[in-house]
Amino acid sequence: MTSRMNIHEYQAKALFEKFGVPVPQGASAKSAAEFDAALASLPEGPTMVKSQIHAGGRGKGTFTDGFKGGVKFCKTKADAKEIAGKMINNTLVTVQTGPAGRKVQTIYFTVASDIKKEYYLAILLDRASSKPVIVGSTEGGVEIEKVAHDTPEKLFKILVDPAYGLADFQVRELIFKLGFTGAEAKNAAKLIRNLYNAYWATDAAMIEVNPLITTPTGDVLALDAKVSFDDNALFRHPEIVALRDLNEEDPKEIEASKFSLSYIALDGNIACLVNGAGLAMSTMDIIQHFGGTPANFLDVGGGASKDQVVAAFKIILGDPNVKGILVNIFGGIMDCNVIATGIVEAVKEVGLKLPLVVRLEGNNVAAGKATLAASGLKLVSGDTMADAAQKIVKLVAA
Ligand code: GDP
Ligand code: MG
Repeated sequence: MTSRMNIHEYQAKALFEKFGVPVPQGASAKSAAEFDAALASLPEGPTMVKSQIHAGGRGKGTFTDGFKGGVKFCKTKADAKEIAGKMINNTLVTVQTGPAGRKVQTIYFTVASDIKKEYYLAILLDRASSKPVIVGSTEGGVEIEKVAHDTPEKLFKILVDPAYGLADFQVRELIFKLGFTGAEAKNAAKLIRNLYNAYWATDAAMIEVNPLITTPTGDVLALDAKVSFDDNALFRHPEIVALRDLNEEDPKEIEASKFSLSYIALDGNIACLVNGAGLAMSTMDIIQHFGGTPANFLDVGGGASKDQVVAAFKIILGDPNVKGILVNIFGGIMDCNVIATGIVEAVKEVGLKLPLVVRLEGNNVAAGKATLAASGLKLVSGDTMADAAQKIVKLVAA
């Protein structure tokens, strides 16, 4: 399972600066006590106050106490301090957070820029061609999905050959399509090159700058920054792992990752413990086929230890929506008896009251089944995937 690690705007902009991508001057604060120090590092004058959460649409968001706008323009630093006080520790709801919103635990103050025009610029992986793609648009500051839907002709895509890198003619083509000339063209070309270098050097999954702006003096700046990284490449970048903000993640996913397990939350009521992503998919399909809905799935991977199985059980039971558990293991590398021993231990430890259906198949399955039978636990065994799925759906519905 591949997933992604997101970072905050202020962290992404610090990264941009390292790669020579111009951003407005800014300073972050993790509590109201830090506002003065952060603001002292900025010049007096118009200042932006920006809520730091891992979700976009902050500007148009509303806090749960009714305060409007997670990104605000202020005429003075004193005003900025006051507005920041309304945002910190408040919960911001945007189109991307879901109705529960996210608690703002960091504020980023920036010098407010004079905007001449807003653009859109992103670099991500084009899965169809397996190449990085640079996406640019003259329609910045708005949701890019809306541009793609309403005015697709205003969206430009450049595929980059990963072996050759970003070519000069490709940068020129992008500059031309975005309509930059003179000093703006020169500055934008440099920014695009440096942004591509940042994307490549950090193994980013996506870099999105919305808006990229031009100023009346010809500067080109990244006014917003959203960056995510492929988990599979993070071992090469400890300095990026250090930017992880656990406040922004599901506690169950964090717990799972501590045990090298992959946990995915869904909205149904049947918890699934499986090994392998493919088996996870087919387990969810078959539950749905028989009229049930998966609450989550937890992939214990190829060769889980007993402790991992115990941890896995505790994690899936941490979801209050869970009304039953389906364990579906196909032992290839995985020893079925290790799973069985883990299940028995976990069930005893957590005092499981919910229905549990177990289907084991493969490596050392006889020993696994014997362990389950000898445990005296009240669990139902499934002979095939279909049998197990039908049984858990029925038990949960009862
Ligand atoms: P988002 O709403 O989460 O995408 O946050 P952004 O950082 O993109 O800010 C939202 C909007 O606020 C931007 O699209 C801009 O229109 C505006 N904005 C952000 N920073 C500045 C600034 O420095 N000056 C001005 N004039 N507007 C800004
Ligand atoms: Mg934005």
